[in-house]
Amino acid sequence: FDHIAKADADVHAYLELTEEAAFAAADKVDAAVADGTFAQMGPLAGVPVAFKDNMNMEGTHTTCSSKMLENYVSPYTATCVSRLIEAGGLPLGKLNMDEFAFGSSTETSAFGPTKNPWDLSRVPGGSSGGSAAAAAAGMACITLGSDTGGSIRQPASFCGVVGVKPTYGMVSRYGVVAFGSSLDQVGPFTRSVEDAAYAMDALCGFDPRDCTSQHFTPHFVDALSQGVEGMKVGIVPGFMDAPGLTAEVKEKLNEAAAKLEAAGAELVEVELPHADAAISAYYVLGPCEAFSNLARFDSVRYGYCAEGHKDLGGQYEGSRAGGFGTEAKRRIMLGSYLLSAGVYEKYYYPAQQVRRLITQDYERAYEQCDVILIPTSPRAAFQFGEIGDPVEMHLSDIFTVSINIAGNGGMSVPCGLGSESGLPIGVQLVSPQFKDVNMFRAAAALE
Ligand code: GLN
Repeated sequence: FDHIAKADADVHAYLELTEEAAFAAADKVDAAVADGTFAQMGPLAGVPVAFKDNMNMEGTHTTCSSKMLENYVSPYTATCVSRLIEAGGLPLGKLNMDEFAFGSSTETSAFGPTKNPWDLSRVPGGSSGGSAAAAAAGMACITLGSDTGGSIRQPASFCGVVGVKPTYGMVSRYGVVAFGSSLDQVGPFTRSVEDAAYAMDALCGFDPRDCTSQHFTPHFVDALSQGVEGMKVGIVPGFMDAPGLTAEVKEKLNEAAAKLEAAGAELVEVELPHADAAISAYYVLGPCEAFSNLARFDSVRYGYCAEGHKDLGGQYEGSRAGGFGTEAKRRIMLGSYLLSAGVYEKYYYPAQQVRRLITQDYERAYEQCDVILIPTSPRAAFQFGEIGDPVEMHLSDIFTVSINIAGNGGMSVPCGLGSESGLPIGVQLVSPQFKDVNMFRAAAALE
């Protein structure tokens, strides 16, 4: 907490500190050490952890970085949060994000942006920018983020940490404020692949409270020692011409491929022919699901309630107008339009067809390889205010969204500093569904 008080004055990763809960958990660890039962505690005993502010933790504020939920106090705890605490983690607090997870820079937070600890004039990425920055600046050992279209992997790349988006259904979404329910997954940020493996072993597994959660027994720590000998790593030559891809990111990608080959993996070329359509499909499906999920913020049962309204319609209107920020309103209006009669057939329906094609692309590619190596983000962290146009901002998700669309596992692994920018750059490993151990084996070889 002393370190956070110093480091976070500049970075602004934390929205709330949970000192009482942390010290209560630490007391349990101390007691176990004293009476010789420490070895029976969970694998994360004594490890400081923190959570993105769209995850409920009983008694804490869960704001989603929105004025809409500024005063909302969680009456219960999300499964992902309780799994880390049950494994012995010490909960330090709640972390800043783009409002309702809409964004790639954490600039849309209603409570001010988080800064990149490597260069305070730059964004940490987003939407889980607070989680990435906290892990990078040593303000927690494991932080959790959520990823709907890249919100764990892109900030991990910008902040030089490991970030994992597990296969859809591997980690429970219960208690996490929904953005796009068919795309959202929770995952960890850490400073090493090994730490991420411990976090995944604690997080993954069936939860009866999330109907999309699957039975899965994680063995991530065991996988780390398996090496990549004989493993087939797919590379996608077509991606090298992607718009905005910088030379230094290409360089890191080539270095990573060479490193995997040197460690005994075989490189094979694969194609993802419908990848070009992923951004368009995502920015139809995402806003449609967000529009539907955000309908619950009606100011009646909880959330910001505007004053001075004459009737219920006026209360809804005033509260939603005053409670949501610009990007949230943009998504709500877009989703509402796209789902309206006559328009649905033109956009939502074809976007679902594109979703099927993208999923099939991955299935075919995995007939030839065990894991795919692609960039995480086309470039290193950008300056605050550098990308003003929302459509240009959306393009920064070009390498991440298709993985949410297909439901595969994806992780960003830091590969050192870029030769031009001097900023951290990550590469992305993508696994077939529920074979996330494949990407961990490859990630361990890249460290
Ligand atoms: N940047 C993407 C968006 O704005 C992804 C966000 C996310 O994964 N939560 O939708």
